[in-house]
Amino acid sequence: TEAAQTAHQLPNEPGDVAPERDLFSKFDGLIAEREALLASGVRDPFAIVMDEVKSPTLAVIKGKETILLGTYNYMGMTFDPDVVAAGKKALDEFGSGTTGSRVLNGTYQGHKECEDALREFYGTKHAMVFSTGYQANLGMISTLAGKGEYIILDADSHASIYDGCAMGNAEVVRFRHNSVEDLDKRLGRLPKEAGKLVVLEGVYSMVGDVAPLPEMVAVAKKHGAMILCDEAHGMGFFGPNGRGVYEEMGVEDDIDFVVGTFSKSVGTVGGFCVSNHPKFDVMRLVCRPYVFTASLPPSVVATAATSIRKLMHAGDKRAHLWENSRRLHGGLREMGFTLGTETPQSAIIAVILKDQTQAVMMWQALLEGGLYVNMARPPATPAGTYLLRCSLCAEHSSEQVEQILEMFRAAGTAVGVIG
Ligand code: PMP
Repeated sequence: TEAAQTAHQLPNEPGDVAPERDLFSKFDGLIAEREALLASGVRDPFAIVMDEVKSPTLAVIKGKETILLGTYNYMGMTFDPDVVAAGKKALDEFGSGTTGSRVLNGTYQGHKECEDALREFYGTKHAMVFSTGYQANLGMISTLAGKGEYIILDADSHASIYDGCAMGNAEVVRFRHNSVEDLDKRLGRLPKEAGKLVVLEGVYSMVGDVAPLPEMVAVAKKHGAMILCDEAHGMGFFGPNGRGVYEEMGVEDDIDFVVGTFSKSVGTVGGFCVSNHPKFDVMRLVCRPYVFTASLPPSVVATAATSIRKLMHAGDKRAHLWENSRRLHGGLREMGFTLGTETPQSAIIAVILKDQTQAVMMWQALLEGGLYVNMARPPATPAGTYLLRCSLCAEHSSEQVEQILEMFRAAGTAVGVIG
């Protein structure tokens, strides 16, 4: 074909593009910054390889057994025997992949069962499974609000929410993080008759703080806006049924769309949106990130459905996760670390460092001591902060949490973060 011939003719070596026309030149600053950092002898926080994963809380990294405190495995479902068995069975019976879109050949019995499990878990009429949580936000946000309509989002929203806005045609308005007053003010400036979607998150993932949902919901309703809440980091352990912060705070009847992911408490990969809106199913025809991509492999939807059903009865695990969060927060605070929140608000505890150098030194000292945490930096973090994000798991034993605290004490003292 013509395309094949063109490809064949591409030179093996880059041509002589003038430096100012090299499309990579815009990344020169970042490349130089990274090279300078690595030249100082530190390990690259963004190039970690897990050589072996022994459990939700233990891995081997460069030959060293390491406690995992930087995963999204909040409920520790990744090695649950029922979950693993369901995945193996589906792999045997339905093969490795669907090779097609949900709207063509890519809807199997397993996808329907997974949506049934979600409907039951959330007590909603509708559930729609996407291939990732990122695509769920991309699809829902870009499709729900169109030309002449408005999306009003928290300034600290996740990248997938921002990207959903960028992909659609609605006007985008940001309000100050978690500020009910600013949300009210900005909604008040918009045309009354226009359609509006307020996008919130139950837990904000960088610092681990929760949104004041009842107040936000009241303001959004006052201005006639619909509400989408991303519960990625709240599913599994907030609320009596583990639905999320919106359940815990008693605003279930007021949220129009809940978006979530299988990549955190559920322990696999995939995304979803649940809703009671009577017209919700039309989304399956008009939502491009749902239509124009392959559906999840049968093994993945089988593990997700099994995990979701088990999460409905995970009260003990939930209680232990909260115990872990309170102990780690209290212990780190007592040692003198600066934390992202005054109180433990979720399973995420952020340790704020002075600058990039201190953050990387602390991160490396922890890793060498046998503890993995997430390194986070701008633009992912708010207000230019460098932080180490600790995320707890229901499978961390109380002894492991004590071990983790001692590792922080040793690294913090060695690096000079605490006295
Ligand atoms: N929303 C939020 C708030 C997230 O933190 C993430 C992932 N970190 C996503 C959505 C995307 O989820 P997924 O990993 O399933 O793409």
